[in-house]
Amino acid sequence: MTKLLYDLVIVGGGPAGATAALYGARAGLSVVVLEKMLLGGEIVSTERLDNYPGFPEGITGADFGQLLEEQLKRWKVPVKKVVAEQVSLKGEVKKVFAAGEEIAGRAVIIATGTVPAMLNVDGEQTLRGRGVSYCATCDAAFFRGKEIAVVGGGDAALEETLFLARFATKIYLIHRRDAFRGVKELQERVLALPQVEVLWNTTVQKIAGERKVEALALIQDGRERNLPVSGVFIYIGRQPNTAFLRDELPLDEGGYIITNENMETALPLVYAAGDVRLKGLRQVITAAADGAIAATAAVTRLGVGI
Ligand code: NAP
Repeated sequence: MTKLLYDLVIVGGGPAGATAALYGARAGLSVVVLEKMLLGGEIVSTERLDNYPGFPEGITGADFGQLLEEQLKRWKVPVKKVVAEQVSLKGEVKKVFAAGEEIAGRAVIIATGTVPAMLNVDGEQTLRGRGVSYCATCDAAFFRGKEIAVVGGGDAALEETLFLARFATKIYLIHRRDAFRGVKELQERVLALPQVEVLWNTTVQKIAGERKVEALALIQDGRERNLPVSGVFIYIGRQPNTAFLRDELPLDEGGYIITNENMETALPLVYAAGDVRLKGLRQVITAAADGAIAATAAVTRLGVGI
């Protein structure tokens, strides 16, 4: 097994991890970022980022990720395209195991974000990628001229419905309650779209189809309903990406990492930043802020100047 040693190992290359890397590198630490997909993480598959300061016209998630990548290149931060499989964090040397390598650091920042929550109904797993999707930006174009459903009532469901409306001729927005959770501005824009029909008080019981999605079995206002659609986009919240930590770090009951305001976990020189930690507001701006705070705390503990 190859062994690599850095001052700071950052697991996750979203806005939290990338910002931490920038702060660490600028303070003179040897830093590595481990990212399973593209730099930028989840934001890369977001259509548009409209609430990050400095971009008056907004910016696409893909462009934002590209800018992060260029910025890390400028500071010569290596980004390894690997999935962290296991960690050993209790000793003085913090170890992350990925793709047959042991990547060790004097400090580690966990910034692995979240993954989409699943409905856990029949057909969801088997028809994933065959009409079941968790990413409108990735898959919307397959549903041009089609009738589809979106499940959820938060910001993500509303925002992605707006995007999908450019492709689908009809969108059933399925929500389990009689009021959305998402912000008012998004609600108003969604409700103004002629091709969107909201199915309130409705739950999905089953996703049906032979080789691709053909229909949803619903319970609407207590009654069964069969809804023919060719796709379903599921936006019912997210879950922290912490399974690889096993019992190395204390997590809350939802699996989020518990930190203090300096992003310190229960273990010395182990930090968490971004959506993966227990916090109130999960946005790009708060993820970036977490990353800056975590790296600064690590730099201070490691005894080098910023
Ligand atoms: P969320 O705010 O937690 O909303 C999840 C929605 O899914 C809720 O409406 C919830 O219903 C519903 N839901 C949960 N479990 C369900 C189930 N098993 N079956 C059916 N429906 C279910 O999640 P999110 O929309 O992914 O947003 C996550 C965070 O990211 C939020 O903090 C949000 O503000 C942020 N975000 C922000 C933006 C933006 O700023 N533009 C965009 C996207 C996301 P109930 O309402 O009944 O609980």
